[in-house]
Amino acid sequence: MTERSRYRPATEVAHAGRDPRRYLGAVNTPVFRASTILLPTMADLERASRGEYPGLSYGLHGLPTVTDFQRALAGLEGGHAALAVPSGLTATTLPLLALLKPGDHLLVTDAVYGPTRRFCDNHLRRLGIDVGYYDPLAGAAIVDAFRPNTKLVFAESPGSLTFEVQDIRAIADAAHERGVRVVLDNTWATPLGFRAFDHGVDVSVHAATKYIGGHSDVLLGAIVANADTFPALHRLWTDMGVAPSSDDCFLGLRGLRTLGVRMQRHEASAREIATWLVARPEVREVLYPALPGDRGHALWKRDFRGASGLFGVVLQPVDGAAIGRMLDGMRIFGMGWSWGGFESLLIPTWPERARTVTRWSPGGPSLRVHVGLEDPQDLIEDLDAGFARLRG
Ligand SMILES: *Cc1c(COP(=O)(O)O)cnc(C)c1O
Repeated sequence: MTERSRYRPATEVAHAGRDPRRYLGAVNTPVFRASTILLPTMADLERASRGEYPGLSYGLHGLPTVTDFQRALAGLEGGHAALAVPSGLTATTLPLLALLKPGDHLLVTDAVYGPTRRFCDNHLRRLGIDVGYYDPLAGAAIVDAFRPNTKLVFAESPGSLTFEVQDIRAIADAAHERGVRVVLDNTWATPLGFRAFDHGVDVSVHAATKYIGGHSDVLLGAIVANADTFPALHRLWTDMGVAPSSDDCFLGLRGLRTLGVRMQRHEASAREIATWLVARPEVREVLYPALPGDRGHALWKRDFRGASGLFGVVLQPVDGAAIGRMLDGMRIFGMGWSWGGFESLLIPTWPERARTVTRWSPGGPSLRVHVGLEDPQDLIEDLDAGFARLRG
């Protein structure tokens, strides 16, 4: 539970969830390693067995490093309370399991993170949940996809790989008019770039593995909920036993402290590199909502308080071997899944393979760029040499 934030975002991330007086004055919440928690009396143990003990009764149910991470995240984007989970994928999937039942209809953005889509198709369908997809550009027109049994919309903005900005306010208004809830994967913007609850979502989820952790050394997720949805999420979180380790939450908290300054640098460097890419003859289109000229720029400007360092690039038509020559020879940009760390990444993507209700045919092969914290001029020189290899 959180009060509305009193400070500006950079101050918030530096101080949220900290209480040094509880830990001998230590600035950071220490790593608490514990499974068994000893209770003082039999009466206390009995109360704990009924779930009525006010303190901690078992390590799985909220060690201080975990709960401080949760408290830190709850308030940043205006939510009621948060749950920490062992990965971003647990954060996207747990709310779907908690809030849906057999016979319910779920609408998922067609630009959803691939593993979230696999969970819906492989498991929610098996459980008798009616899974459908919607056009990420639908906005208020999402009503056309609603059915009498629609219970939940799962949005992700900007979309994975293709970076469409969604009109979350319009979607949330249309949904709430019909008693439908909205879950948003807010990983790209982080709590600093998009204050999800100001735009009407019920649940905002994050792969803290990305920018919140920020150093490519932790897998962690966070689910932030409003007061209405939190009890059902907390019930399933407890019953499934999916608390992350204190070590991982310690890294999540440590990453959070520098999130503000890192995001400023990611965005500034990404703008510089995206602008350089737009002018390149090898490039057909840059998919970065923070860039004037991007099809989502007006919405991004209306709703977001910042951008991140992740964007898409559509190349002019070129064969796979040429792209291989470019990518295999990069010196600074690495090739690998995930993003949000201090280091830059460059991978090929195939967004057209996943779509089911919209077509993705941008007219050339796709890349995804993660701009890290290196000097942007070095990154531009690495890309420039890469384009020389691409041309042969
Ligand atoms: C990476 C990612 C996830 C999953 O995070 P993991 O910690 O790798 O499970 C979820 N959503 C989005 C948008 C992501 O990019």
